[in-house]
Amino acid sequence: MSRRLPAIFLGHGNPMNALLRNSYTEAWLCIGETISRPKAVVAVSAHWFVPEVGVTVMAAPRTIHDFGGFPRELYQVQYPAPGDPDLARRVQGLLAPMPVRLDDDWGLDHGTWSVLRHVYPAADVPVVQLSIDETQPPAFHYEMGKRLAPLRDEGVLVVGSGNIVHNLHAYAWGRHAADPFDWAVRFEQQARALLAAGEHAPLVDYDALGRDAVLSIPTPDHYLPLLYVIGAQQPGEAVTFPVAGVDGGSVSMLAVQVG
Ligand code: ZN
Repeated sequence: MSRRLPAIFLGHGNPMNALLRNSYTEAWLCIGETISRPKAVVAVSAHWFVPEVGVTVMAAPRTIHDFGGFPRELYQVQYPAPGDPDLARRVQGLLAPMPVRLDDDWGLDHGTWSVLRHVYPAADVPVVQLSIDETQPPAFHYEMGKRLAPLRDEGVLVVGSGNIVHNLHAYAWGRHAADPFDWAVRFEQQARALLAAGEHAPLVDYDALGRDAVLSIPTPDHYLPLLYVIGAQQPGEAVTFPVAGVDGGSVSMLAVQVG
């Protein structure tokens, strides 16, 4: 069949990136133009963080505007990518016997569409979202990535969308540029080194990485999508970082591509 697609973690950051053109969005566009066109995307978004595993099965997922306090223009964005019910059932099968609920209610949240709008602007690649089970430990999410890995040989792009460093309490809301916090820079550098070396165990057991990790990952939702992507990494595959930068001092925009 077709050759193996990469798996990619995208740092989505501020929802306004959906509307903007900046170095991050230009890099996302470049990713869409550079990697082989997938027949579909399975997206794991920080913003579908619920006490179960669900996979969207609808043929036409709605665009969810799951945020508050942003300009009206952002609420008017639609990302009408089709769903892929067959792929949803394939995901359910790969994860069996674990119970996976076929979901006909969610759709595409902004963790998914704010970046895919730039990666695939025509919204012509079908997208299925997989929820993050908030009741499960990090090792569970890494294992999920391993189970999803065969999709990469079936023309499916596995996408994780979150942020490796995501501390909104420290985030500089507003227009001025903020220097990155030293703990954010250190943790991102540590994560990069571990990723480049293929040392996944400390990235899964990130609680043991100390204070920089605690400040960078105050809640797990934006970090865990990374574990799905590296869980899908195969032996000997290269890791690259096609997008980099720290936004607002405390949100890493780093993208991590395996394969
Ligand atoms: Zn987010």
